[in-house]
Amino acid sequence: MKIILLGPPGAGKGTQAKFISREYSIPHISTGDIFRKNISEKTSLGVKAKKYLDAGKLVPDEITIGIMKNRLDMDDCKNGFLLDGFPRTVNQARALDSYLNGVGQKIDVVLLIDVPEKLIFDRITGRRVCPSCGASYHIKFNPPKIEGKCDVCHSDIVQRKDDTESTVKSRLEVYGRQTEPLVGYYEAQGVLSKVDGSGEIDQVFQNVRNVLKKYN
Ligand code: ADP
Ligand code: ADP
Ligand code: ZN
Repeated sequence: MKIILLGPPGAGKGTQAKFISREYSIPHISTGDIFRKNISEKTSLGVKAKKYLDAGKLVPDEITIGIMKNRLDMDDCKNGFLLDGFPRTVNQARALDSYLNGVGQKIDVVLLIDVPEKLIFDRITGRRVCPSCGASYHIKFNPPKIEGKCDVCHSDIVQRKDDTESTVKSRLEVYGRQTEPLVGYYEAQGVLSKVDGSGEIDQVFQNVRNVLKKYN
């Protein structure tokens, strides 16, 4: 299956992606994770991307599209993939369509994780992540078993630098202006499915499953 997860920052895309990837045995590809890994390793991509992530702005399309094409070329994507955080602009969506066209493939479904804006702010500001293994937690809604420690690898969990109040505002504004137009873009292709993302994590995954069973 070839799936795109769409939704505002903090909607729960990464959280659901982990479950979907495991259940359907497809790689979870997160542009945000790719950028953060490169930033922590201080690669040349990381050096270029850092200022955009810190400001809550999008990394320029020419950089992002190139990275995604390289990632999708890898062998593990041959039987499907789950894109989390890409595309985020109409230009990226067009580039993805033309890439897939070129290899005789297409997206099966775009899941829009629909969450009212009033829930978003608490979800993002309470998010904590594991810098070692990428696991994500929430201080209230999904706390680790031992406070401050990753369940998986026991590293100290941290708050992302861009999960502060001021950056969140910028990211939500960027979402509304640059990413939300993708809802209409994929609706027009007949591949968009809305998922209610306002309930608890397990409930949302149940909603996701209900949609995905139609494509299996
Ligand atoms: P995104 O990838 O869309 O930015 P995440 O999956 O990282 O979002 O989720 C943002 C934060 O909200 C995390 O702290 C996560 O643990 C928490 N979260 C995710 N889904 C839910 C949910 N259904 N209810 C409450 N909190 C959630
Ligand atoms: P969230 O789901 O909370 O917004 P992500 O981890 O998906 O967080 O993205 C974090 C940051 O990485 C974005 O604010 C942006 O700077 C950069 N980024 C991620 N995906 C893209 C993309 N497709 N195009 C441009 N920038 C991106
Ligand atoms: Zn960890």
